[in-house]
Amino acid sequence: MATLVMKFGGTSVGSVEALTQAADIVQEQAREWERLVVVVSAMSGVTDALSKGAVTSASGDDQTYRAVVADLRVRHYRVADELLAADGERAQLLAAVDSYMDEFATFCHSVHVLGEVTPRAMDAITSLGERINARMLAAVLRQRGAKSEAVDATELIVTDATFQKAAPLMDATRAKAAARLAPLLDEGAVAVVTGFIAATESGVTTTLGRGGSDYSAAILGDCLDADEVWIWTDVDGVMTADPRIAPDARIIPLLSYGEVGELAYFGAKVLHPLTIRPVVERGIPLRVKNTFNPTCSGTCIVREPEATPGTVKAVTAIKGLSMVTVEGRGMMGVPGIAARTFAAVASQGASVLMISQSSSEQSICFIIPTETVAAVVGAVEEEMALELARRDVDRVWSLDDVVIVTAVGAGMRNTPGVAARVFGALGQGNINVIAMAQGSSDCSVSLVIAADAAAEAVRQIHREVILNAVSDQPDL
Ligand code: ASP
Ligand code: MG
Repeated sequence: MATLVMKFGGTSVGSVEALTQAADIVQEQAREWERLVVVVSAMSGVTDALSKGAVTSASGDDQTYRAVVADLRVRHYRVADELLAADGERAQLLAAVDSYMDEFATFCHSVHVLGEVTPRAMDAITSLGERINARMLAAVLRQRGAKSEAVDATELIVTDATFQKAAPLMDATRAKAAARLAPLLDEGAVAVVTGFIAATESGVTTTLGRGGSDYSAAILGDCLDADEVWIWTDVDGVMTADPRIAPDARIIPLLSYGEVGELAYFGAKVLHPLTIRPVVERGIPLRVKNTFNPTCSGTCIVREPEATPGTVKAVTAIKGLSMVTVEGRGMMGVPGIAARTFAAVASQGASVLMISQSSSEQSICFIIPTETVAAVVGAVEEEMALELARRDVDRVWSLDDVVIVTAVGAGMRNTPGVAARVFGALGQGNINVIAMAQGSSDCSVSLVIAADAAAEAVRQIHREVILNAVSDQPDL
C-alpha cells in the first residue's frame, strides 16, 4: 500500500494563508496515496514563545508568561476564526487552545515558584504548540469534508528520557505507531501527527530537539514503511548557494544523502543529517518542497549519489570560526601529538569543523567556533607544556575571523581537475586560501578563507564552477 509521510514546518502552518495552502496540499495528496500521514510543527515562533515563557518564569519574572499566553491565544484564535465555521469545528478547537494555554500558565506558575525549569518541564511546556496545531489542521481538513484525526506523537514515538534531545527507540515506536495509526489509515483518514514531541516508555513527554519535526517525519516514515517522505518548507529546495549571497543560485533537483550530510554540516540548514537518518538507512526517497510554490519539484534526496563526473552541486560558507595552529619542527615523526592535541580540544567541549596537517608533520591546524578559541588554545598549551619547553612545539596560535567555504558534490569523487577549477575560480577573484581539506568521502572540498573575502569566494565558485559547468545542460 502506497504510504506517504509529509511534514509541514512552522512557516508552512503558521498563518491562515499557510494553513489553507497546507490543507489544499494534503487533500490533493490524499487522492494520490492510499495512506497519508501528516506531521506538523507548531506555528512559526510559537515554540520560541513557549520556551521564553518558561525561562523568564524560572528567573523570577511572572509577567512575561502571561503576555505569552495572551499573544498565543489571540494568534490561534484568529486563525481558527478565519478557518473554522462558528457552527462547526471552531468551538471545540478554541476550547483546546484554552485548555493548552491554561496548562502552559500552570506550568509557568510552578516554574516560577520553584525558581528553575528542568529539561523535563521544558519538554512538557514546549510540546504545547504542536499539540494545538495538529488539532488545528485536522479540524480544517474535517471542515472541508476530509476524514482526519489529530494524533499526539506521545502515543506513537517512544524515546529514552534524554529530555530536550530524546533518542527514539525504534522497535517500540514501530509497534506503537502501527497499532495506533493502522485503524485510522485503513479507513482512509489522514492522520495529523504532532512533530517534535514524543514520550518515554512510561508516557512522560519528551522532545526530539529544536527543529525536530523533520526527525519526527523520518522516524514515522521508517516505522510505517513509507514509500516517500516529503518535507514542506518555505523555500523551493536545497539551493546551489545561499541566494542572499549568490542571487543566481538555483535549486538542486537531486542530491544524495552523503551530499546533504556535507551541506547540512556546512551550514545549509534545510535538513539535518541526523533527522533524516532513519530514512537514509531504509533507502526511502525524501523530497523537500515549497508549500508556497507546490508545483516546483523541489529537491529529491536519494541514497545513491548521481554519477555525473566532475560536477560541483553547491557551495556554502560557515562563519564565526577561528583557526588554531600547533607548529614546531620537533613534531615530525612523533606519534601522539595529534591525539593529545584533539583530546585537549575535546576537554573544552569544542567541536572541530575541519582539520589539516601537512605531510611534513610540522604543523597541525584545525578550525573551531571562535567562542571556544581562548579555552582551546589554553588547554592545548597546557597539554604541550613539556614540548613547548623543549621547543619541540614552537607555538600554539590562533587566527580569528575565518570562514570555511565548502564545495560539495559526489561527482567530485575520482574526478581530476575539480579542485583545480575551485582554486582557479578563487585565483580569478584574487582570493587567498589559508588552509584546505578534502574529506576522504570525496564529497566535498573545504577551504579556509578570511571572513571578509567569504561572500566573494562563494560567488566566484558558484559562478565559475557550478553555473558555468551546467549552463549548457538542459534544466532538470
Ligand atoms: N516547533 C519545534 C521548533 O521550533 C520543532 C520544529 O519546528 O521542527 O523547534
Ligand atoms: Mg519551528
